[in-house]
Amino acid sequence: MAKVFCIANQKGGVGKTTTTVNLAAGLAQVKQRVLVIDLDPQGNATMGSGIDKRAMPLSVYDVLLESAAIGEARQRSEKGGYDVLGANRELAGAEVELVALEHRNERLRRALAGTEDDYDFVLIDCPPSLSLLTLNGLCSAHGVIVPMQCEYFALEGLSDLVNTIKQVHANLNRDLQIIGLLRVMFDPRITLQQQVSDQLRAHFGDKVFDAVIPRNVRLAEAPSYGQPGVVFDPASKGAQAYIDFARELVQRVKGLR
Ligand code: ADP
Ligand code: MG
Repeated sequence: MAKVFCIANQKGGVGKTTTTVNLAAGLAQVKQRVLVIDLDPQGNATMGSGIDKRAMPLSVYDVLLESAAIGEARQRSEKGGYDVLGANRELAGAEVELVALEHRNERLRRALAGTEDDYDFVLIDCPPSLSLLTLNGLCSAHGVIVPMQCEYFALEGLSDLVNTIKQVHANLNRDLQIIGLLRVMFDPRITLQQQVSDQLRAHFGDKVFDAVIPRNVRLAEAPSYGQPGVVFDPASKGAQAYIDFARELVQRVKGLR
């Protein structure tokens, strides 16, 4: 049975997509079977996995509208070593179309029901909003991984996300929990980042992952080569950190079962 995790944070540019594709590639390297679902109409996780979002015959849009099954719409990231259910601009329309449909929150969960045995992990890259698309992600998942930068306003934004997760847990998905907070783009030379990191630890305890992802330019360069950083430059500090994170997550999931 696959563990399904959303990579979510309603802020943009906090490292959700970078975390999704590098965690996927890291998990693949430790022999896990992984499906990435791109729920962001920007399609960055799709492109960053080496799949041309403009040339996809089928995408997550078709799956949400029930005109295709995941098995038909998924593609292989050859470089990454995982499968991808891709997204492109078409998905922006789904937001509007879904509102009128039955089971609008649960479309993705229902679609995933047939593929659970194909994977060890399903990673859902959420858009930067608490929209109907994100809600479909949260209703499908066992847990949420929250990437965050250790900046002053990060903690404030976190409380909105935590409240949303609590509400989804109470009303729509009893399985949902926060798996952990991942510190990303971390620069230990910046005192404020150390302070916020300490506050996170004090407040959230072992919900904060031990792995810390440093700010590393190789991670930012990799998407333009259609590869996760973990594959593009395996020796880089960023890649190493994501592999550590993949190993830590595999251990943590053992504790969940
Ligand atoms: P989100 O999906 O939350 O919008 P992204 O993963 O797209 O965020 O990251 C935003 C930008 O920051 C991208 O340009 C990405 O390449 C860059 N980035 C993300 N993580 C790192 C990192 N650890 N070091 C350097 N750049 C990073
Ligand atoms: Mg993104």
